[in-house]
Amino acid sequence: MGLEYGAAEGSPPATLRGSYGLFIGGSFVPGSAVFKTVSPATEEVLAEVTHGTTEDVDRAVAAARQAYERTWSLLPGKTRAAYLLRIARLLRERAPELAVIESLDSGKPIRQTRDVDLPLVTAHFFYHAGWADKLAYAGFGAAAANPPNPTLPNPTLPRPLGVVGQVIGWSSPLLMLAWKIAPALACGNTVVLKPAESTPLTALAFAEICAEAGLPPGVVNIVTGDGQTGQLVARHPGIDKVAFTGSPEVGKEIAKSAALWGKRFTLELGGTSANIVCADADIEAAAQGIVEGVFIRQGHACCASSRVFVAEEVHDDLVAAVRRRMAALRSGNPLDEATDIGPVNSHGQLDKITELARSAEADGAVRWSAPHRPPDRGFWFPPTMFAVVTQEQRIAREELCWPVLTVSSFGTPDEVVDRTNSTRYGLSAGVWTRQGELSAWLAARLRAGVVWVNSFGGLDPAVPFGGFQESGFGREGGRHGLEAYLDLPGAWTPDV
Ligand code: NDP
Repeated sequence: MGLEYGAAEGSPPATLRGSYGLFIGGSFVPGSAVFKTVSPATEEVLAEVTHGTTEDVDRAVAAARQAYERTWSLLPGKTRAAYLLRIARLLRERAPELAVIESLDSGKPIRQTRDVDLPLVTAHFFYHAGWADKLAYAGFGAAAANPPNPTLPNPTLPRPLGVVGQVIGWSSPLLMLAWKIAPALACGNTVVLKPAESTPLTALAFAEICAEAGLPPGVVNIVTGDGQTGQLVARHPGIDKVAFTGSPEVGKEIAKSAALWGKRFTLELGGTSANIVCADADIEAAAQGIVEGVFIRQGHACCASSRVFVAEEVHDDLVAAVRRRMAALRSGNPLDEATDIGPVNSHGQLDKITELARSAEADGAVRWSAPHRPPDRGFWFPPTMFAVVTQEQRIAREELCWPVLTVSSFGTPDEVVDRTNSTRYGLSAGVWTRQGELSAWLAARLRAGVVWVNSFGGLDPAVPFGGFQESGFGREGGRHGLEAYLDLPGAWTPDV
């Protein structure tokens, strides 16, 4: 039996089925084992979801292979574009309902899922639909030097890779799915995707949309399950490329096995993004950017600005401005329009941040938490700031994927560059200054895939995203992101 959920003002209610099978070969099929997905705000069971086994992953990969060989890779780019456009329009039509499902399952406030995530999800499909019939003209490899005649067979044209295995995490689940599936399909690949165990519901709703769009069976397959199911997908011999979003630890494991079997892979991993506030910055704007960069998504973002470095001269002013905003954050029901901050995504994540916060205090970091009265049920952690930390403390080194930030002061630009670059990550950073020259100087020296200046966290499908060091390998988005889903023979042919 399905359940109907009342939504935020202006959104239709979302109807969840009582249980979901796996989406393989164009329809939902039952599996042999199930698990429950719960609301992190209330711990209420939202639905039963199928746990994908070895046989299930085999079936999904076989369906994707068949679809790749018999239909999808043979279609002209303009036909693939038409399918992507149809998916994009359906996503736009169902966006209010999908936003409700995402908020229910992930705990993200509805204002974030409805006003930020869903528009970006839709934009990714529209954007990549635009590329599907223009790949030969995108300047890739030998085709770039020798513009192709589309009426003739041309070995220098970019080709799809085949069947892609995609495994994603629980922060921004539907957006991560869009980052993965839209470019893969635009380039002519077929997909087996495994969403995170704690946030499978929007991926399953997306499967319904694929069916409604009339996508050829097997082009997109959604296999739910836990880390073991993810491992089965990533290591499957029938997969030609692995695309992963998640932790550096699992990312390294995937890189090793992909390298061993000669598979292509891209990794979007964690980060400890710095927000650098210079002495001349607009303090109120910086404080707002910092609070939005961390707390509005409960810190559940790879690029959450969890490390704040502030010039000594303005340290106290900035801390006061951030605290004021943190104290005003309303936590509560993610479906309430007035909610700024929802629960932590799962019990496991709550345990991790609780333990790390204790260890930070034991290490001497000074904790300040916003006044917060959590509901009796659910996985709640108050918006928290740790002040005056040194780089040796765990809280300053580890990824903070929760509603927590650290603040410390710096003296000179050289010092803040050294401290920002001192972690094993390198995903993104923010710089707040009124001087264009200083922002350019800092951006050039920070080891981060993205640097925002006087803003934080803006994303666009046309702009590549990805990290250095343990924050990842490869880029997603833009023309760079397409490369990760294409075989570019001309690019590697020696010029003899
Ligand atoms: P994990 O690495 O634990 O999990 C990510 C996905 O991999 C989940 O689907 C998980 O399944 C699955 N998985 C777990 N173990 C394995 C394995 N051995 N082989 C294959 N798949 C496996 O990360 P989290 O779920 O904790 O995600 C949070 C991380 O993702 C953070 O580090 C965050 O920064 C990062 N992230 C990066 C982004 C980027 O673009 N750079 C964007 C968003 C998040 P299960 O859910 O069952 O555990």
